[in-house]
Amino acid sequence: MPSDRPNILYIMTDDHAAHAMSCYGSRINQTPNLDRIANEGVRFDNCFCTNSICEPSRAAILTGTHNHINGVTTIGAHIDNRQENVAKILQRNGYQTALIGKWHLGQGPAHWPTGFDHYNILQGQGPYFDPEMVRDGTKVKYTGYTTDIITDLSLDWLENRDAERPFMLMYQHKAPHRPWHPDDKHKELYADTEIPYPETFDDDYSTRAEAAHAATMRIDRHMNAIDVKIKTDGKRDWRDFLPPPEDIAGYTLTTEDDETVAFSSQEDLKKWKYQRYIKDYLRCVAAVDDNVGRVLEYLDEQGLAENTVVIYTSDQGFFLGDHGWYDKRFMYEESLRMPFVVRYPREIAPGTVSKDMLLNLDFAPTWLDWAGIDIPDYMQGRSFRCLLDGNAPDDWRTSMYYRYWMHLSHHNVYAHYGIRTMTHKLIYYYSDSCGQPNTIDEPKKKEWELFDLVHDPREVNNVYGDPAYANIVRELKDELHRLQAECGDKPFEPEVD
Ligand code: CA
Repeated sequence: MPSDRPNILYIMTDDHAAHAMSCYGSRINQTPNLDRIANEGVRFDNCFCTNSICEPSRAAILTGTHNHINGVTTIGAHIDNRQENVAKILQRNGYQTALIGKWHLGQGPAHWPTGFDHYNILQGQGPYFDPEMVRDGTKVKYTGYTTDIITDLSLDWLENRDAERPFMLMYQHKAPHRPWHPDDKHKELYADTEIPYPETFDDDYSTRAEAAHAATMRIDRHMNAIDVKIKTDGKRDWRDFLPPPEDIAGYTLTTEDDETVAFSSQEDLKKWKYQRYIKDYLRCVAAVDDNVGRVLEYLDEQGLAENTVVIYTSDQGFFLGDHGWYDKRFMYEESLRMPFVVRYPREIAPGTVSKDMLLNLDFAPTWLDWAGIDIPDYMQGRSFRCLLDGNAPDDWRTSMYYRYWMHLSHHNVYAHYGIRTMTHKLIYYYSDSCGQPNTIDEPKKKEWELFDLVHDPREVNNVYGDPAYANIVRELKDELHRLQAECGDKPFEPEVD
């Protein structure tokens, strides 16, 4: 083993989209501490998840495999913790390993973290305040704001570790997952500001597959009373309270703070809900940013900054009003893209930017590479260490395979798979449960979407039926099926044309 093996500090949040980080050009917030990691290291602009939802992405990160291999295809398909994972391998090779914060891969002896010398995890999604956590198998109640608590526990673990051996710490926040509850420190942030609206806020899905129309994640009609913090009168269906246009005049809502708001149009109501939602989301992000700053300061104080790889990412992206939506799941850009910044002064020049295509499957192999450990054949990702000087090898991937398995059960999103290249995206809505856990066995319309990402980066113009793209469709289908064969998945039979 090399004697100078680096420490690995893996910081992951839940549902933090890259376009809510200022180093990615956010129009809506500032994240100075997260930006610091990018400014002192590398920012990856094309890091993608292979399945845009919490548990599956976490399983892919830990095991380095696609979800049909690791078994965590959907929320509810909890991990079988007997399988190999990166923490076990690092632990066997002398690393101190810990996981503190959000786990979300199931509870109980069959699902709790394995491969960690120490874990202290939220149960399920966990609350924003006063969490009861599971510390090495025992429940412990904490008082305070969860983002602060997870940081305190992580700093405690770092402080008390064996300084003679390298460590791998997975420091994982619940924030900014729904429902959004800011702490007192940030609750007035943006109070007098109107947050800008995304370009596709009023997307009407007019060229798109049925799946986009059917999804129940629209800000105007699917955000509920808890999301936007209003009082319900017991009569109104708070899960779906968009009044029809003829009833909007004089329509009022009362907030939890007893403020009554009147609306004159559906557009007004949609904008109001967006402001309520996005401000709380960004306040939760601000608390993360502050806490990451505390950890970076600790590394500085302890002289650990040089020999510690610091990674910041989130388990997937999120729609921040894009396409009129909140939530994730779809293979569209805002959901597919993960923020991914890495600082490691020994190998990465400050201010590096990479456009190369990275996947969540690549994280585990890279940690092993840094630790000087052979990457096991079963892992399906590839070490991205070769990208860190900004020059990808000729055989680095230029396409990726995606599959969302969780047909209909949350937000009515149709199951789909697809391929993204550096210029195009082809999606097939096979729209079937395929017998997977936590799906609804009700087949829906099967159809394709194609986006030209060069000319239509916002993905509002589905050109699948456009004869000008017929050759590209053929090429992408071939490549999609090649990627499926390569990773051991297979097409839904029969695929329609
Ligand atoms: Ca998530």
